[in-house]
Amino acid sequence: MPITFDTPVQYLTGVGEARAAGLAKLGITTVGQLLYHFPRGYEFRGNVQAVATVPSGETASFILVAATDVSNTMLRRGMVISRLRAFDESGSCEITFFNQPYIKDSIHKGCEYRFYGKLIVEGSKRLLNSPVVEPIEENKPLPNLVAVYPLTAGITQKLLAKLVKNALDQLIAQPGAIPELLPDKVRAENNLCAISYALTAIHFPPDFDTLSIAKRRLIFEEFYRFALGAAGRGEDTRRAPMLADTDTAPLIAPLPYTLTGAQTRAIADIAADLSSGKPMRRLVSGDVGSGKTIVAAAAAYMTAKNGFQCALMAPTEILATQHYNDLAPLFEKLGIGCRLLTGSIKAAERKKLLPALADGSVGVIIGTHALITEDVRFHALGLVICDEQHRFGVGQREALLAKASDDPSVTCHQLTMSATPIPRTLAMFLYGDLAMSPLDEMPPGRQRVETFVVNEGYRERLNAFIEKQCAVGNQVYVVCPSVEEIEGGEVTMEDIRLFDFGYDAEELMRPQSKPKAAVTWASTLAEALPGRRVGCVHGKMKAADKDAVMRSFAAGELDVLVSTTVIEVGVNVPNATLMIVENAERFGLSQLHQLRGRVGRGAAKSCCVLVSDAKSGSTARQRLDVMRTTYDGFKIAEFDLSERGPGDFIPRGEADGDVRQHGELRFRLANLCEDMKLLESAVNAAKEAAKQP
Ligand code: ADP
Ligand code: MG
Repeated sequence: MPITFDTPVQYLTGVGEARAAGLAKLGITTVGQLLYHFPRGYEFRGNVQAVATVPSGETASFILVAATDVSNTMLRRGMVISRLRAFDESGSCEITFFNQPYIKDSIHKGCEYRFYGKLIVEGSKRLLNSPVVEPIEENKPLPNLVAVYPLTAGITQKLLAKLVKNALDQLIAQPGAIPELLPDKVRAENNLCAISYALTAIHFPPDFDTLSIAKRRLIFEEFYRFALGAAGRGEDTRRAPMLADTDTAPLIAPLPYTLTGAQTRAIADIAADLSSGKPMRRLVSGDVGSGKTIVAAAAAYMTAKNGFQCALMAPTEILATQHYNDLAPLFEKLGIGCRLLTGSIKAAERKKLLPALADGSVGVIIGTHALITEDVRFHALGLVICDEQHRFGVGQREALLAKASDDPSVTCHQLTMSATPIPRTLAMFLYGDLAMSPLDEMPPGRQRVETFVVNEGYRERLNAFIEKQCAVGNQVYVVCPSVEEIEGGEVTMEDIRLFDFGYDAEELMRPQSKPKAAVTWASTLAEALPGRRVGCVHGKMKAADKDAVMRSFAAGELDVLVSTTVIEVGVNVPNATLMIVENAERFGLSQLHQLRGRVGRGAAKSCCVLVSDAKSGSTARQRLDVMRTTYDGFKIAEFDLSERGPGDFIPRGEADGDVRQHGELRFRLANLCEDMKLLESAVNAAKEAAKQP
């Protein structure tokens, strides 16, 4: 039987139960999902060099003739080393493989191969360790670009490439077997290639130009698919509590400060929504420190004083606790019961809390996703507030909303708080159904976090600076781009993105400094700073362990906290005065801006140091320089958007790691700088399509 997009992957040759399970971990259960499992990057193997001319440490391709057969030698503990010599016209080199004894059967004396790997020169010796080997065969040209896929245990690059090739060949042989989502007219108007061409080229690109054509089409498709979904949602006709009294003076008047104009406007927007009888769907977005909490409190207060309950859900226990500590005293003074519910609330306390929620004596409940638990019931849930919505799956939010009412024609109000200042242009598309209240005005008297861009040459001075901060009792954040060491040598999607900015392939192939990994960097720093307490936190840790480290940093028990971007979400440590970002060129500007907002929260002068080896004058360096001169999150967001496209603003399941959240909107490819225009056209095309019966 011919395969289709819906055929389970087990039907493909070479996929048994074990491999099917491995593929499922990658989110691949059908042939269609296999073809939509896009590479995360490409190895550029077209860069063929003469073996004697390449400097040590450079990754390249070499076309070499095997001068010997492969000899296998057993080492300790069952390790096997395989060796051979090979040469081209310029010279010869030694090639070794570890624990691949079977390589002996695929390389033969006198035959020609393409080896791709990093060349090491030691004295007069040239070495290639564990290169990729491809036989040179007549009439079978080798590809210049080779896809590199996100993998999981038991699933190799080779296997994925083979399965994709097999599936594509079979589907292309049956016209129409690959579903084309985009109508011909839309494709013609937007100059987009057909789906079979795009899928073939994204997996097996003959060259960079074809790859760009394929990516453009697939990005458009993702936007289109998303916009179709949004357009099809239609208007929400459900009812929501109509609040009669939206006066917030009793809450606001006693505050030790006056609200900013933006805060006042946001609260007025919310009051209008809550008294309309229609469900509020509002997004309050604003820089760190713009004062979102009090806006949320005002919404909660209006809800509670009208006899309804408000649930405020924060993504982490620390944040929930912080909100609780800030807000509970305000509410209690006004006679509104306010309680905290997180995973670590003791069973006995929880047992007392649940009935108080169910009978309505608790007006405001603040917590984590522990709020979603089945046995949590409300008397009359009127408003759900999600802080930092990027961290919640759609499912989690829906689960909480579902607690509002059993009547399908009734729902509750929803308020979302986001610390990513989202440019209006983009928000319209991404959150078409959300009304926006931007907090684009900072409370007066905020200190500016002086920002510097430095290169590796400053390392010693930088360490001395950390030491100086710690010596006076201040704390330091160090943010790294990745969790663990990544194997180098391949072109990543990030690099392809640079390519799309007009870099040439040669620039791309420059050996790059390895991105700093949080775990190893923490131990390096601990050595460089004897006597200083250095902690490490990253997204691959268990939530409880993560919280424990963060808490001890907040409590001043650590001097330096090395982390991935998990600290991006609003933890407040006023004693932290220095933010260092390693490999800063790898971050989006909005992300850097958020990280910078982690310091400067106390009275002490704070600063932010962006460490990058991006050459002065390069695009990457110019981007970083924006951080030195601009402190307005919305301006930075607009700049980021025009430079990098909307990728950084799109909700992801997790802060770091390639965690796949089903049902979560993911634009896997969306990162080109051309994205905004594409997004606009895709949305318009989808709106047109939705109008048709
Ligand atoms: P974020 O938007 O990052 O959540 P917060 O709501 O935590 O910001 O506010 C940061 C700090 O600013 C808090 O200590 C808060 O009390 C204070 N704050 C909020 N609004 C104002 C204002 N209008 N004037 C002065 N301080 C304010
Ligand atoms: Mg906040």
